[in-house]
Parts: sequence; structure tokens; C-alpha cells
Amino acid sequence: MSTTAGERDAGRVTVVGSLNMDLVIRAPRLPSAGETLAGRTFANVAGGKGGNQAVAAARLGAHVAMIGCVGNDENGAQLVAGLRRDGIDCSAVATDAALPTGVAMIVVDDAGQNAIVIVAGSNGALTTSAIAAHEKTIEQADVLVCQLEVPGETVFAAMRAARRHGRIVVLNPAPATGPLPRDWLECADYLIPNEGEASVLSGVTVDSPESALAAAAELREQGARNVIVTLGERGVLVLAEGEAGKHYPAPKVAAVDTTAAGDTFVGGLCAALAAKRSLDEAVRFGQAAAALSVTRAGAQTSIPALHEVPRWAD
Ligand code: ATP
Repeated sequence: MSTTAGERDAGRVTVVGSLNMDLVIRAPRLPSAGETLAGRTFANVAGGKGGNQAVAAARLGAHVAMIGCVGNDENGAQLVAGLRRDGIDCSAVATDAALPTGVAMIVVDDAGQNAIVIVAGSNGALTTSAIAAHEKTIEQADVLVCQLEVPGETVFAAMRAARRHGRIVVLNPAPATGPLPRDWLECADYLIPNEGEASVLSGVTVDSPESALAAAAELREQGARNVIVTLGERGVLVLAEGEAGKHYPAPKVAAVDTTAAGDTFVGGLCAALAAKRSLDEAVRFGQAAAALSVTRAGAQTSIPALHEVPRWAD
């Protein structure tokens, strides 16, 4: 009989990344420079790619530990309480005395377009010393996952520590501002950019499975091992070491809100890899979870639980 990730040994995932409070305003349209506009609604929503991926991995069957940094304020306290409600070990989440918790100010218009300003705040205070202090948390994990919303040298130190201990390293290179150093790419077992990030990192414009394959091949030239390009409703392109590229179409669903689809995919894939699933199974599992998430509104609110995700294909 087929099983879900959590029905076999739940694995351990450690996340090194950002914790942000998203301040979400819905408005009829985006304001132009100098304009004051009446919004319709406002909500504080837990976010940050690190936090979202931690929540996704936890809901999708993994034991998760978070290495991050919040400010000494209400936003930080709320974010940590939220992670704990999802069973995430927050003993390696520091509180910075000087900087505010990271925030993302997001305006969403009636057409679903958004404009976002992020202030990294305490995420910028997650230094390499945090990695040295919590190396055990990385050593004990099956999978380490990082993004690029915390200082780059911290991400690199975390990836190197995970490699030293023979752990699986996943890098979601978001946001991407330019090509990554070869030694960073060589550190990651799985590099998971979306279309925009793959374009920025490789110099190849990605807008189809074919161009994603060309970008993935270029990223392998640059030092990456296994490249997984997410293509929104077009699914995922996987270029694994020693194999031909493979396109996985996305399950067809009625999309309501694609926010955090990428984070759900990455978290689900990590949970499955940590549970010793094959790459093929992990990609399908991540896709099934991400497809469910786009049928629901919100970021962390849209991330499904393990029992909701379809079983493995036989
Ligand atoms: P976001 O920034 O919104 O979290 P992203 O740009 O990082 O998303 P995407 O490539 O848009 O990531 O989506 C990640 C994965 O989620 C896709 O590879 C796909 O499997 C799934 N997905 C996204 N949109 C849809 C959709 N409309 N229908 C089905 N699956 C989807």
C-alpha cells in the first residue's frame, strides 16, 4: 500500500531563514507616487520564506527546527508563538535587542497584483555565530533548507556545516539578485529557483519547460548538482545529476491565491526527502501540497496538513 511522508519515519528538517510579519492591505488598486489611497482591509499575517517553509515542512510530516532571529517586539512574539503552534522547535530562534522583527508591507489590488516592500530588520542580525552556536541543530537534521532572505554568509556557513555532517542541503535562492558563487552552488544538493530566479541566476530567460531545462543546464555548468525549477501552473522541471531533464506538469486545480505555493512546494519536498523518499516521490508530493495551497487564500493559512495531501502514486 502507498503511504504519505509521515506514515513512514518522519524525518528532521532544519530551516535557516527569515521570519517576517506581513502587513497586508487590500486596496482597489496600487497607489502611485505621492498618492494617498483608501484601502479596504488590513491584516497581520505570519510570513517570511524561512517561516513559511518551516510551517510547510512541519504540517507535511517532518520534525522541524528553526534557526532565525526576531526582534524584541509583539511581531516577533507572535511569529514564534505561531511556529510553536505548528510544533516547530524554536529554541534556536534568537531575539535581537536592537532591531525590529522583519516586516513585509504588501498592497494587493483587486486584480491580484501586488507591491511589496520588505524591511529585513532582525533577519539581518542572523549571523554566522548563530550557525556555530546551533551546529547541533543542523547535525541532527536529515535535511537543511535555506533561502536568501538572511545574510548570505550565514546561509553559506549553514550549508557548509550541513555538508560536513553529510546532511541533504536544499537551497531556495530567493530573492535572487545575480549569479551565485560556484562554491555556494556546489554546497547545495538541490537548488530550487522559480522562473524569475532561474532567469537571474542563469542568464537564460525562463518562460517554459524547455527554457527551464536550458537554465538548469547552465546552472549545472555553474556548479549546481540537482536543479528543480518551479514553473507555477506549468509545474516543475527537474534536472538531476546524471539524468535527462524531466517535466512534471502541475495538478489542475481552480487557483484562488498562489501566495506561498513555492514555499509549500519546498517545505513538502524537504519533508519527503527527510522521510527518505526518492526525488521523484518528493517532487510529486511537493506538487500535490502546493496545488492544494493555491486553492486557498493566504500564505501560511493556505498550507495543507499531511492528511489532506493525496497519497503517493503507486
Ligand atoms: P510564490 O512566490 O507565490 O510562493 P513561486 O514563484 O515561488 O511562488 P511557483 O513556481 O509559482 O513558485 O509555484 C511553485 C509550485 O506550486 C509549482 O511548481 C506548482 O507545482 C505549484 N503551483 C503553483 N501555481 C499553481 C497552479 N495554479 N496550479 C497548480 N499548481 C500550482
